[in-house]
Amino acid sequence: MKTLIKNGTVVTAAETYRADLLIDGEKIALLGMDLPADGANVVDASGKYILPGGIDVHTHLELPFGGTVASDDFYTGHKAAAFGGTTSHIDFVIQGKGESLHQAVENWHRKSDAKAVVDYGFHVAVTDLTEAVMNEIPSMGKEGVTSLKLFMAYKGSLQIDDTTLFKTLMKAAEAGMLVMVHAENGDAIDVLVKQAVAGGHLTPEWHALTRPAWAEAEATMRAVALAGIAGAPLYVVHVTNGMAVDQIAYGRARGLNVMGETCTQYFFFSIDNLRRPDGAKWVCSPPMRTAADNEALWTAVRNNSLQAVSTDHCPFFFDGTKEIEYEGKMVKIAGKELGARDFSKIPNGVPGIEDRMPILWTYGVGKGRISLNRLVELCCTNPAKAFGMYPRKGTVAVGSDADLAIWDPTAKKTMGQKTSQQRTDYNLYEGWEVTGWPTQVYVRGNLLVDGDTWNGEPGGGQWIKRSTHAPVV
Ligand SMILES: [Zn+2]
Repeated sequence: MKTLIKNGTVVTAAETYRADLLIDGEKIALLGMDLPADGANVVDASGKYILPGGIDVHTHLELPFGGTVASDDFYTGHKAAAFGGTTSHIDFVIQGKGESLHQAVENWHRKSDAKAVVDYGFHVAVTDLTEAVMNEIPSMGKEGVTSLKLFMAYKGSLQIDDTTLFKTLMKAAEAGMLVMVHAENGDAIDVLVKQAVAGGHLTPEWHALTRPAWAEAEATMRAVALAGIAGAPLYVVHVTNGMAVDQIAYGRARGLNVMGETCTQYFFFSIDNLRRPDGAKWVCSPPMRTAADNEALWTAVRNNSLQAVSTDHCPFFFDGTKEIEYEGKMVKIAGKELGARDFSKIPNGVPGIEDRMPILWTYGVGKGRISLNRLVELCCTNPAKAFGMYPRKGTVAVGSDADLAIWDPTAKKTMGQKTSQQRTDYNLYEGWEVTGWPTQVYVRGNLLVDGDTWNGEPGGGQWIKRSTHAPVV
């Protein structure tokens, strides 16, 4: 089947130009002026922009956490992604204690494969580095799981020590794989949390007060330095503050192969949101910081101290004792109310897989903070390059997958739980007005979203086998 998209404006990380675009099957077959229809289904994109589909390299669908589970699964999360112009994501497989990495990846395939609608890859989070697991690492890379995640926080559950981090960096470098770190000093945080709880400081703002920015800056520098010693590439996930950005910039300025991402929410929110009566909605780790940090992050994505924006999409209900309706079914999943009396028991995570691109379009590009090309670079191209998916994904080019979002720059919408496809009972951007929305979204040539119409089918999404030796961007 062929589709000819006429008269649109193509936007890549490098260029903006008028062109017709021919999709043949799953691929972009031609780009040019005045292409003939030749029996193709013709779509008029006059006045619209054609962007590569978004790539969100940091998500947690159906993740068990804190006595419950993230409320979007691989169907609802994918539907939400597609409506927001995101056509691929990489989810974190978490290795259970005593489990092999292959077993862990198998567990995630069982959750995802039958439900998937958009395309998806896996990182694997190493939590238990035995000799056998160490020897498994290179084979994971060959099989397309080319990135490893390590948690420097969550003491007593996911946290690894520096020996594990350093050995993994060395092994990954050898195998052409990328190590990602959640950089916070989990030991210091553990002391602060215990002290706060013992002192009766139990409100959500204490989530931020017990996870200070220095704990993130310190762990970031430690990871950057260890990557330097190991000669390994490093990707720091969810950078939230100016001091942590500085550590990455410091490493890059000295020629280290280190990269960092921030997430949409860290541009806009602060500890003040945690002080609201519904502050638990903003509880995620690392926490929201300050208005000055919001600004530092905009600067960092402009000057390339940070290379990507993802979401860390890990939604929980605010009030999981009440049902919501999703696709005509009533759903209720325990959520933030688990920590109503103790911030340390609030499931950590926020929704955002659908919100990222539209929010950055209006409040990033629309406000003059980044260019539209830089938005594409941060949300599509750099993620595809750094994680071994380029040029199949992450750009608009002949031969690439026809993962496309056609944006109407005049479409107006009010963000909110009612208008969102994310399966949770709240939205961080409730009531925010946006101008610009992806009105048609294609994954490998399939029109999944057409205005308000949803054509996605569970099982239609493909698992992405990624390449090793990806470039550092
Ligand atoms: Zn995460």
